[in-house]
Amino acid sequence: AKSEGRGTVAHYSAEMDQDLQQRRRIEAELRLAIRRKQLRLNFQPLVKTESGAVVGYEALLRWRHPELGEVPPSTFIPIAEESNAILSIGEWVLRQACRTAVSWPDGCSVAVNVSAIQFARANFADKVFDILRETGLEPERLEIEVTETVLLQDEAQSRAILNQLKAGGVRIVIDDFGTGYSSLSNLRTFQFDKIKIDRSFIATMETDRHARAIVRSVADLGRNINVPVLAEGVETAAQGEMIRADGCTHAQGYYYGRPVEDIAAAAHTSGSVIS
Ligand code: C2E
Ligand code: CA
Ligand code: CA
Ligand code: CA
Repeated sequence: AKSEGRGTVAHYSAEMDQDLQQRRRIEAELRLAIRRKQLRLNFQPLVKTESGAVVGYEALLRWRHPELGEVPPSTFIPIAEESNAILSIGEWVLRQACRTAVSWPDGCSVAVNVSAIQFARANFADKVFDILRETGLEPERLEIEVTETVLLQDEAQSRAILNQLKAGGVRIVIDDFGTGYSSLSNLRTFQFDKIKIDRSFIATMETDRHARAIVRSVADLGRNINVPVLAEGVETAAQGEMIRADGCTHAQGYYYGRPVEDIAAAAHTSGSVIS
C-alpha cells in the first residue's frame, strides 16, 4: 500500500475506521438483541448416511437487526466473544434449543454450539444441567459442539467440564475437525462422542485427492476408536455418495436440508419423515 501513495493509504485507514465503527455498533446492538427479541434459532438436520434418517438437528443462531438486516453469525459471534456478550447469548441459545427440542420426536437430539468463553466458566456444566432440568429435556438428547480452540484454553478445566457433562449424559462433539491445532492429540486427551469433519474438506474432496484421503482417514480413525464421524457441508449427491463410501456415519449439509426455523413445518413442505 505504501508505494501506492498517500491517497490509497488514507482510503484504507478510512475503511478501517468504518470497520471499527461497524464493530462498535454491532457490539452495542448485540447487547440489546435478546431483550428486543431479534435473535432466533434455525435448525439443520443431521442424518445417518446409511439410512438417510434424521437423527437430530444443529441449532444455528440468527440475528435480524431492523436496520442492519440479517447479520451472519460469522460476523457477530466473534464480536460477542470479545465483549463477553456471548455469555448471555450462549445461555439464551442453550435454553431456547432445549425448549424447542422437548417437543421433537423421541430420540431426536439437538446440537448446540458453545464458544470457548462460555466453556472457560467453571460453572458451565451446572448451568447446562439447570437448563436441562428447567426445560425437561433428557440430557441424552443434548449434544454440545466445541471447537479445538475450546481445548486450547485451560486443559485441565476443559477436561473437568467435559467429564462433568458426559457423566450427566450429555454428549460432546468436536466441531470443525482438522482445522485446529493438535487435532489428533485432542482425540486422545478427550473422549468425544462424535467427530465433525470440517466442511472445507468436503467442499474440495471431489477434485482434491488429498482432501478426499483426509476424509477417508478420519472416517477410518473414527471407526477404529469407535466414534461416529459426521461430514459437514455436503451440498451435492456426489459428495453424499463419497462420504458414505468413505465410511462417514453421519452427514449434514444443504443436500440433506438447509437450516429452518420450524422442523415440523419444513418436514411438511418437503414431505420428508423424521425417524
Ligand atoms: P458451524 O458450527 O460449523 O455451523 C455450520 C455452518 O455451516 C452453518 O453456518 C451452516 O448454515 C453452514 N452450512 C451447513 N450446511 C452447509 C452446506 O452444505 N454448505 C455451506 N456452504 N454451508 C453449510 P452459520 O449458521 O452461518 O454459522 C456459522 C458459524 O457460526 C457456525 O459454524 C458456528 O461456528 C457459529 N455459530 C452459529 N450459531 C452459533 C451459536 O449459537 N453459538 C456459537 N457459539 N456459535 C454459533
Ligand atoms: Ca457446529
Ligand atoms: Ca462445524
Ligand atoms: Ca465451521
